Amino acid sequence: MNPIQMVDLKSQYQKIKPEVDKGIQEVLDTCAFINGPAVKRFQENLEKYLNVKHVIPCANGTDALQVAMMALDLKPGDEVITTTFTFVATAEVIALLGLTPVLVDVDPHFFNIDINAIEKAITPKTKAIVPVHLFGQSADMEGIMHLANKHNLFVIEDACQAIGADFIYPDGRKQKVGTIGDVGCVSFFPSKNLGCYGDGGALFTNDDTLAEKLRMIVNHGMKVRYYHDEIGVNSRLDSIQAVVLDAKLKHLDTYNKNRENAAAYYSSAFSKSDKLTVPALAKNSTHVFHQYTLQLHEHINRDELIKHLTDKGIPAMIYYPVPLHQQKAYLDPRYKEGDFPVSEKLAKTVMSLPMHSELDNKQLEYITSAVLEKVEG
Ligand SMILES: *Cc1c(COP(=O)(O)O)cnc(C)c1O
Repeated sequence: MNPIQMVDLKSQYQKIKPEVDKGIQEVLDTCAFINGPAVKRFQENLEKYLNVKHVIPCANGTDALQVAMMALDLKPGDEVITTTFTFVATAEVIALLGLTPVLVDVDPHFFNIDINAIEKAITPKTKAIVPVHLFGQSADMEGIMHLANKHNLFVIEDACQAIGADFIYPDGRKQKVGTIGDVGCVSFFPSKNLGCYGDGGALFTNDDTLAEKLRMIVNHGMKVRYYHDEIGVNSRLDSIQAVVLDAKLKHLDTYNKNRENAAAYYSSAFSKSDKLTVPALAKNSTHVFHQYTLQLHEHINRDELIKHLTDKGIPAMIYYPVPLHQQKAYLDPRYKEGDFPVSEKLAKTVMSLPMHSELDNKQLEYITSAVLEKVEG
């Protein structure tokens, strides 16, 4: 059996090595490191894949979120509603720009932002909602867009964990996450579903005017070289990363399918146990399983279970051990323990198992047996 890793990038690379190596060599030979033809090629291929008018590549997912908020002219004091159960980047950029993060709880089944909680949190100062499509499944985008239209708010989708996932409307129509709100943001961090071999990110929008502004902001606020119409940042995707991403984009649906199959294996094996809750599948979304996250029932000692697995060569992680409102840097007198009971409970009970495109049945059988042996034993 191959050694088990949370994410196995090496086995994945072996399968696409000729194409990736050739593309990287071409960049080296032409020295078109920044804004080379490879970046444009990837941008256009991703636009086609997502069925979105504009993809604006940038340096990472955190920058994408920041640039989106800059382009929408959000000003200090403006309130931005997001979830407390997410990776820190979402709230980090809100705080960095002097905006006010307004945190809300998540749905206990899907871990995504709770629509009713958003509505309750809206005030006259609210300017935007940032749903996070956590672990690879879409938030309720129909409900969120409805609220946003009603209250005249921007929607910035944090799709960093869900590239390729579809939101499914009641009539069956599908739309890729990240292309539904005003702007979508993704990360190409190596371990993401579409990951490069360094840092990378992108913004998506169907709005021509906004696309032009996003393109300016990622490039020092300039359209014409050395004429700066906006305050911008330096946030570029480099050509070597674009080559890697373009090679992998062709396989993204297969990678996501492999993840889905691994998740189905896990969930089927764990259905025997009443001590674990497997990830719930939403009717209005496909799931690309950036993470496979179990909820452990109360009497299971999570630390002991993780140690049991680690001793057997199986990594397991906690995404996320502390909700944002309880993070030292984000403590705020507006929030206290107990304000977001679902997120607080999840932080204490979730555990994520290895999840990537290369898991085979031998590994899955080994992992599921090891988990069941401990929790049922
Ligand atoms: C990974 C991630 C980010 C940040 O992306 P980087 O490319 O690492 O900056 C933001 N939000 C979420 C939900 C993420 O998972």
